[in-house]
Amino acid sequence: MRRVAVLGSTGSIGRSTLEVIAGHPDRLRLVGIAARSRIDLLAEQARAFRPTLAAVWEEEGAQELRRMTGSLTVGVGPEGLTWLATHPDVDVVVVATSGSEALIPLIRAIQAGKQIALASKELLVMAGELIMRLVQEHGVKLVPIDSEHVALAQCLQAVTRSEVARLVITGSGGPLWGLSVSERQVVTRAQVLAHPRWQMGPKITVDSATLMNKGLEVIEARWLFDVPLERLRVLIHPEAVIHALVELVDGTALAQMSPCDMRLPIQYALSAPERWDSRFPRMDVTQRSGWHFFEPDLAQFPCLRLALDAAAVGGSACVALNGANDAAVQAYLAGQMAFPDIPRVIEEVLEQHPAIPHPTLDEVVEVDGWSRRVAQERISHSPRRFVKVS
Ligand code: MG
Repeated sequence: MRRVAVLGSTGSIGRSTLEVIAGHPDRLRLVGIAARSRIDLLAEQARAFRPTLAAVWEEEGAQELRRMTGSLTVGVGPEGLTWLATHPDVDVVVVATSGSEALIPLIRAIQAGKQIALASKELLVMAGELIMRLVQEHGVKLVPIDSEHVALAQCLQAVTRSEVARLVITGSGGPLWGLSVSERQVVTRAQVLAHPRWQMGPKITVDSATLMNKGLEVIEARWLFDVPLERLRVLIHPEAVIHALVELVDGTALAQMSPCDMRLPIQYALSAPERWDSRFPRMDVTQRSGWHFFEPDLAQFPCLRLALDAAAVGGSACVALNGANDAAVQAYLAGQMAFPDIPRVIEEVLEQHPAIPHPTLDEVVEVDGWSRRVAQERISHSPRRFVKVS
């Protein structure tokens, strides 16, 4: 029996994780839940799964949750998240929060010897070098939940390291793929938030529209699989059937295919190295025809270019990239600026940041805060350019 705590249990990945757990009551038990908001949903999850531990961001929410549930022990704030992630009753910590709040809890969980299933790719983008070093030092297993990386991990099981030439991450191209550059300047929020293949939370859906998501995934893969940037490639594959390919030294390529359903990679992250049965949708390859693959055009998708540039610089450039992107996306979602301003804000922040090659945890936290502040200043002090678009 694997005892699981889910940080971010009310988000899209968190809810799917609870479905996976419900499908395997003989193998998985939910012992802890945590969320920033949606206390009512947290209480509902507590009643359905009977975990004993919970954490929320604010004291007010904690009191409300205690009132609604009774038997739950509730931690509060960053300390509460860390307490939950390192609790002796927890074997596996699923990290599926947005933002950077879970960075310290994740690091403490690794130091406490917990197994990690990581959906929050941003944390690897910020501190991948540090996190993977701790994973090694403490001998813990850290597995991705991101579908492309779960696909890569499965392909890589079949080969040895010296046989691998290149790792290829595919992306559907997101909600705006196929629009012209000028059409992309005037997209509505509804267009940006309507992903053609995946049902996901708003932040990652905006990242899919800008292709920042693919850039973050390249950095994520760089650390997860310890491969240099020049051996990572992004391809746009609008049908989203193949989630990743591993190109081998002899010219062979291994690919992973599956339906676009996040419950699949989540289940594999929790079952690996085993594979469990499921009632998820099956693939029927006879119903799929006309698979296409394209090189992404970096001039059309400046966020992907910025991410690859930051990845090449390395160190704290990736922290600044992530912080600025998060602030810009939140401002866009709050209606404070237009869609094409997202890469402009990120670029301005990166231009001001002299990168630290191997940042310490304190430096990561500092640069993260700095980049968010500078991005917010840019957004609030440029009312002429950042027109409000509904
Ligand atoms: Mg992905």
